Amino acid sequence: MTTKLYYHDGRLREFTAHVTARQETERGLAVCLDRTAFYPTSGGQPYDTGTLNGIPVLDVWADEVEEVWHLLAQALDTESVNGQVAWERRFDHMQQHTGQHLLSAAFMYRCQGKTLSFHMGHTANTLDIALPRLGWETAFQVEDEVNRVIWEDREISARFVTDEELAQLTLRRQPQVSGPVRVVSIEEYDATPCGGTHTARSGEVGLVKLTGIEHYKGNIRVTFLCGGRALRDYRRALRTLQQLGRQLTVGQEELPDAIARLQEESKMLRHALHEAQSLLREAEAGRLWDAVSPVNGVRRILACWPARPFAELQSLAAQLQARPKTFFLLATLEERGARLICGRSDDLPNLDAVAILRTALAPLNGRGGGSPALARGGAPPAAQETVLAALQGALPVTHLLNNLGELGPVS
Ligand SMILES: [Zn+2]
Repeated sequence: MTTKLYYHDGRLREFTAHVTARQETERGLAVCLDRTAFYPTSGGQPYDTGTLNGIPVLDVWADEVEEVWHLLAQALDTESVNGQVAWERRFDHMQQHTGQHLLSAAFMYRCQGKTLSFHMGHTANTLDIALPRLGWETAFQVEDEVNRVIWEDREISARFVTDEELAQLTLRRQPQVSGPVRVVSIEEYDATPCGGTHTARSGEVGLVKLTGIEHYKGNIRVTFLCGGRALRDYRRALRTLQQLGRQLTVGQEELPDAIARLQEESKMLRHALHEAQSLLREAEAGRLWDAVSPVNGVRRILACWPARPFAELQSLAAQLQARPKTFFLLATLEERGARLICGRSDDLPNLDAVAILRTALAPLNGRGGGSPALARGGAPPAAQETVLAALQGALPVTHLLNNLGELGPVS
């Protein structure tokens, strides 16, 4: 079994060891050492990185017989190695992990909320607590207690205890492993079995900040940040607030009001714009209608625009439908293809918009459908002249009419 140097000295960054076994994995060579300061992924804490004889260590895991394996970036020829643990990453893990102990303890002692699981992610940590609900007020009390214990800079110790000693100890939770139990104690605050790496004093954690509360599978899941992660998050949040303050030329305190004002203004502008667009469509529909002379009392409006939003055609269609004895066939040439809308006023019940639309779409290899009064369709990209010819070709089917009449304006 590999001797785990991190059990006895959490600050050990450099060590020497011997290779006891090798295996070729799908990801490359992995070596087992007689002793190691590299922490293998376990208990919610990710593995350490660093080097063995200068070769980067990419992953570390313990097998079922507690041998610790180190995945290497390239081949290693020697039997004896010098190991270097990447300290920044390890210390970050120690801060997050110790912060988790403090939070779990505070949730237990303040709210009788037992810790169900812990996950340390690349950026945020989560803790699942057996509580039916948790409000921010209580969460802040827990947070205050944790930070008070941090600022009291209490000693944190970890050691293996005998069965007799174990029987004497009051642990926050019962050990889940068989064999010797390692107990991590925060001076006069908490004792719990754990195999991870922790800071030597609570002060090294610096700060614990809860960042989220959510319901998860009938319990509570909190997200939190400790130490350097909390500082970086505060920096990021402050930068965002400062940037918003500059953009809106208000102080940070006034941001919510300033944003509410902007939202209200934007709502009013959207409404005004909508009104103006309606008036514009109405006027445009009037111009289109006036520009064609009736044939047998019916106005036939034909138009095709390059790259006009289809929503505008729909609103034009609604305006034209409301006029008497009106039939229309409109098209726009969007990047993805042609889009058509065909319709008529209610006083022309013998005209079938679907049939006429489909006649126009047939030479364009398009498809469409709708009701006898209004139909929509689309076709693959085609030249404007081709689309226009298809629109014109569809008109003779209007059996009510005996000639083509005048065409509507085409831009
Ligand atoms: Zn721990």
